[in-house]
Amino acid sequence: MAKLYAKLSEDRKIYAPVEASDKKVNYQYNPDFKDVTFDHLQSTLSVKNVVFPKVENLFYFTNSKTESSVTDIDLDKIPEVVLWGAHPCDTAAYDVLRSIFCWDIKDEFFAKRLEKLTVVGLACSTSDAYCFCTSVGISPDAVKGSDILLLKLENGDYKVSIITEKGKAILEQSPDLFESYNNEAEIVATVKQRFDYKQVTEHLKDSFENPFWVNNSLRCVGCGACAYVCPTCACFDIQDEAQGSYGRRYRSWDSCGFGLFTLHTSGHNPREVQSQRWRQRVMHKFSYMPERNESLGCVGCGRCSRACPVDMNIAEQLEVLQSI
Ligand code: SF4
Ligand code: SF4
Repeated sequence: MAKLYAKLSEDRKIYAPVEASDKKVNYQYNPDFKDVTFDHLQSTLSVKNVVFPKVENLFYFTNSKTESSVTDIDLDKIPEVVLWGAHPCDTAAYDVLRSIFCWDIKDEFFAKRLEKLTVVGLACSTSDAYCFCTSVGISPDAVKGSDILLLKLENGDYKVSIITEKGKAILEQSPDLFESYNNEAEIVATVKQRFDYKQVTEHLKDSFENPFWVNNSLRCVGCGACAYVCPTCACFDIQDEAQGSYGRRYRSWDSCGFGLFTLHTSGHNPREVQSQRWRQRVMHKFSYMPERNESLGCVGCGRCSRACPVDMNIAEQLEVLQSI
């Protein structure tokens, strides 16, 4: 495993899960295999940062009294990246993001980062009560979004499944790094199915005015944590920042949970209260996206519920929503 890791990091930037001193695990640029953790349940932040950075420059500009000029970002300078050890919910989220960023007009920044990305997925060997991937059509050993998938075996080795052409190219470049598989038992987490997402989508069609939204969001403080940890949330804000005559335009993550998110310059806010923002979050993921993007906007990672300071649990609410 260490040799494969070293090989992949020779000519690519490699990101992997690393445990910090506070025991929290996050994916970071990590050339050294010895720091990588394999047994983490879930990272605090998702891996969307690799294709959709928290802050991303869109162009630079110079203004003077008489003229302005713009310098584009050279997308060809985006490096080849390997994401190592991402769980199936996170790798599946890349397809969801693609359905948003490449829906009508292709977002060239996102598309280039995805093109330069190779994903070594890691099937889940543990789960907790917040996980609900099986309720949204994914499983703890799903291959979607991975180029190679690692699956833990009872003897401590990892089974390697080659999924895509990118994965095949790695095998062909370094066949000596792989050994034949000897049918050891696989360790795969169990995740109970809690609701039928098709039923949820169906019920949401007639639920816009349902009192459910007010009753179930009274404690939401609009902190936006749910969106910031989510692997599929794709909303961003665009700002200009300048010093003197030189500046940049950048985008940064945003959240539909914020009151300012929809505030118009006129002062009108179409989502005046928190219950409307919570409704938007759930409706977008489970009703609008299946209709427009032919994709659910949730992969059941449970991060939003783990991170919520007031214990808003999206899976619990979806269980109720499938039958209201
Ligand atoms: S994390 Fe919880 S409190 Fe914060 S915006 Fe999301 S649902 Fe509301
Ligand atoms: S909405 Fe929550 S459970 Fe669904 S993908 Fe986002 S963070 Fe994960």
